[in-house]
Amino acid sequence: MGVRQVTTLDCILVVNSGSSSLKLSLFAISTAQCLLSGAVDWPGHSGGGILRLEGQSLSGRLSKTDISDHGAALEFALSALLEQSQVDSGSTVAVRAIGHRVVHGGTLLQESLLIDERVQTEIGRLSSLAPLHNPAALAAIVAAKTQLPEASHVAVFDTSYFSRLPPPSFLYPLPYEWYTEWGIRRYGFHGISHSYCAQRTAALLSRPLQDLRLVICHLGHGCSGTAVHGGEPVATTMGFTPTDGMMMGTRSGSLDPGILPFVQQQHSVPANSLQDTLNLRSGLLGISGISSDLRQLESAAHQGDERAKLAIEMFADRVRASIGSLAVAMGGVDALVLTAGIGENSSTMRAAICERLNCLGLHLDSDRNASRSADCDIATAQSPSRILVIKTREDLMIARETARVLKFPFLFE
Ligand code: ADP
Repeated sequence: MGVRQVTTLDCILVVNSGSSSLKLSLFAISTAQCLLSGAVDWPGHSGGGILRLEGQSLSGRLSKTDISDHGAALEFALSALLEQSQVDSGSTVAVRAIGHRVVHGGTLLQESLLIDERVQTEIGRLSSLAPLHNPAALAAIVAAKTQLPEASHVAVFDTSYFSRLPPPSFLYPLPYEWYTEWGIRRYGFHGISHSYCAQRTAALLSRPLQDLRLVICHLGHGCSGTAVHGGEPVATTMGFTPTDGMMMGTRSGSLDPGILPFVQQQHSVPANSLQDTLNLRSGLLGISGISSDLRQLESAAHQGDERAKLAIEMFADRVRASIGSLAVAMGGVDALVLTAGIGENSSTMRAAICERLNCLGLHLDSDRNASRSADCDIATAQSPSRILVIKTREDLMIARETARVLKFPFLFE
């Protein structure tokens, strides 16, 4: 009787830890294939929550637990993920490396890198600039290092992509010392997604990235636009914090700065409440009074709700205005890219945004827009510039960066 050989599959685990969720994706190093992904939704930080695990093979699995921190959430998700991937692949899965998504790297952490004590301390220090994001990433790093001590841990930052923005683009017209002494500058966010979309666009258009002028709009709960010229980002809408730029689900985006001292002084709104209002009660939710979720607003607008219609119109207006400003920063645009939840899924929002973009050489084909599948061109055949819908793959990009830092062979389309 022959002995069954059990092979080992070397993998990279991607950990994306948010304030109320933890997402994991497991990639085989030899093939760059995503074997399995899962998400733990984690509403609230205190007490015993209900953890829900989802994923390609795990969909629908529910578990009620007393788990109340990121460490326990990671342990729970990781063991289920590894167990399932072992069943699926028939091999023993060995996690060689973990790629952690970290939103803010500040000015010191400008590249993806191995996480040592210094890096960990700096990620923690930057929590004051990204209070919703960096603490969650740090908690996941600490937990993952405890649970997978033999593996290499790499941080991949959303801000890295924008570390090469030119000074006129990253500086605010404030006293210069605010930048030199307090670090007040545009950092930019969603860099992992923008950088993926830039590379994917070049591949889809079969043109070198260096030759292209791109405007990439990442439209999810958070929304940002980036101008990419000669392969580098040259302007972006998110700034010192992820509240800047476009109108978003619950964030205001750019405002008249005079509004803030006015409501503080005249209406006694305290600073922390102001911060909550700008981040959690503004944007689509603030204007509609219904929801931050575009799907719900589209349905309410369809039933005649005037404030839902207004919120949708304002959102499209502001995205369009950002596209104009980003395109002009490059002297024109060869391709507009729409990505993330809204960009990938809402054909009506795409149509509303593209209205009046003909002046930039962007002509939307309404049939293609209505019937599009992932990663395709929805401009008319005659359109001088292209309009692409791309499914963003931040997990793949993080796995790729992790492999690059560790010099693992990892193929990438
Ligand atoms: P996150 O920033 O949390 O990753 P997503 O990229 O998932 O967010 O985008 C969330 C947004 O995408 C929500 O406003 C949601 O309503 C919108 N969205 C997702 N699917 C659709 C759809 N089919 N039609 C319209 N909007 C959609």
